[in-house]
Amino acid sequence: MSDCQSLGDCADSRIVRLYEYLDGALSVEDIHDIKVHLDSCVDCAKEHDIECVIRSVVKRSCQDHAPADLKSRIMGRITEIHAETPA
Ligand SMILES: [Zn+2]
Repeated sequence: MSDCQSLGDCADSRIVRLYEYLDGALSVEDIHDIKVHLDSCVDCAKEHDIECVIRSVVKRSCQDHAPADLKSRIMGRITEIHAETPA
């Protein structure tokens, strides 16, 4: 199965699945599928690399510079947003 013949289709599914993949939200079978796909699809591999770089930079800069109360402030803000948004 090759969903990369159409670039438009691939761009859509690869974004969604790459994020799930990087979040560790995929099943073992899906992770395998993504890995196989990344080996054969230059566009998706590039997207994956970029996303990995972004995440590692964000992670590193957070570890270096984030104030100790950042997490509680973010959690507080998320709670506010949830309170403002009707379910
Ligand atoms: Zn692809």
